[in-house]
Amino acid sequence: MTFEQELYEIVPELKQAKMLHQELVNQKNFSGYPPNSYAERPETSTNIPNLVFAGDWVKMPFPCGLMERAVSSGLLAANEILHREGLQRRSLLSVNPEGLLQI
Ligand SMILES: Cc1cc2nc3c(=O)[nH]c(=O)nc-3n(C[C@H](O)[C@H](O)[C@H](O)COP(=O)(O)OP(=O)(O)OC[C@H]3O[C@@H](n4cnc5c(N)ncnc54)[C@H](O)[C@@H]3O)c2cc1C
Repeated sequence: MTFEQELYEIVPELKQAKMLHQELVNQKNFSGYPPNSYAERPETSTNIPNLVFAGDWVKMPFPCGLMERAVSSGLLAANEILHREGLQRRSLLSVNPEGLLQI
């Protein structure tokens, strides 16, 4: 199996280990970030007063992915609700990419 071969290349000591159990999981539910998908994603805020989006599929103004993206988008959504209620937004700290990595 390719994974096993690669594992032994990375950690050769494991070749001597006794395998007790192995399971290959091949699911189709992993988050996807295919090229050019950015433009298609909805932003946190919508024109509908009581609808905001959060989740790892939402368009984000700073680089993040997977769980980090899910949490960050939730914070942006919470901030949007605070703003709509006339309350103070919470500061969110993130990296500030330059050059090619700029969003
Ligand atoms: C196998 C696997 C391994 C992963 N490993 C990592 C990792 O190591 N590190 C990492 O950062 N990320 C990892 N991820 C990605 C991470 O799990 C997701 O990015 C994150 O969970 C996305 O959070 P979310 O809240 O956007 O969506 P989800 O966690 O998918 O939550 C969406 C929720 O909405 C519910 N739902 C869907 N439709 C409806 C409906 N119609 N009505 C009501 N509820 C509904 C679902 O049941 C689900 O509970 C992994 C994902 C998978 C599948």
